[in-house]
Amino acid sequence: MLKKIGKEILDAVYPKRCPICSEILVPKERKICSSCSEELPVLMEPRCKKCSKPVLVSEQEYCFDCVKKQHHYARGYACFLYNEKLKKSLSEFKYHVKKEYADFYVAAMVAYLGEWIHKTGAEVLIPVPLHKNKYKRRGFNQAQLLAEGLSKALSIPVDTKLLVRTIDTIPQKKLDNKERMRNLEMAFSILTNGKESEKLFPYKRVILVDDIYTTGSTIEACTNVLQRAGCPEVFFVTVCIGSGF
Ligand SMILES: [Zn+2]
Ligand SMILES: [Zn+2]
Repeated sequence: MLKKIGKEILDAVYPKRCPICSEILVPKERKICSSCSEELPVLMEPRCKKCSKPVLVSEQEYCFDCVKKQHHYARGYACFLYNEKLKKSLSEFKYHVKKEYADFYVAAMVAYLGEWIHKTGAEVLIPVPLHKNKYKRRGFNQAQLLAEGLSKALSIPVDTKLLVRTIDTIPQKKLDNKERMRNLEMAFSILTNGKESEKLFPYKRVILVDDIYTTGSTIEACTNVLQRAGCPEVFFVTVCIGSGF
């Protein structure tokens, strides 16, 4: 009883808000307001068969970016096309600790991508890691929150120990794309049994989880590190993806 009253007081003082426009949600069980729900740019076909970015016509198999870069992950999907509203929402989520927004993002990922996630046969979800300094500053890793939500809904375990970010910021000036990628890859390491090791990789198929895919370089760097450690197949899921053209 006390718990219920406590919850009612909390709901009155901190009502649940729409994760996109931050209006108060009515009824409070909703995860997003009705007008934002209608406007959200859900990704539909035709999409790139590699990264899921929209392509102009269905005959176009891959987006320009995937043709140019030949990413090493098997395939990945995002829910929404990144726009100003989602940019604001994701920045509230990450930088203003609106952790509750994860509920909506997870629900959308489950609804739009849940079936595909199961079809990949992935044994584990791996959130793109934050460096421990950034984790301390932010207090949480947004990718981990998303992965944990997906894990609960889809009954696939999460591994937050295996892939770690060991270098925080990398100077990228005066580097070409190849050098930049090599540098970014050096920021990530694989830890097995708590030790840095490139042997005995425990999974055959993994799904990387992140909030946004823009140039794809972070996902690509993580993929290369995982593959070098012995993981044959890497997929990804994100909430948003940039259009790329
Ligand atoms: Zn709204
Ligand atoms: Zn693509």
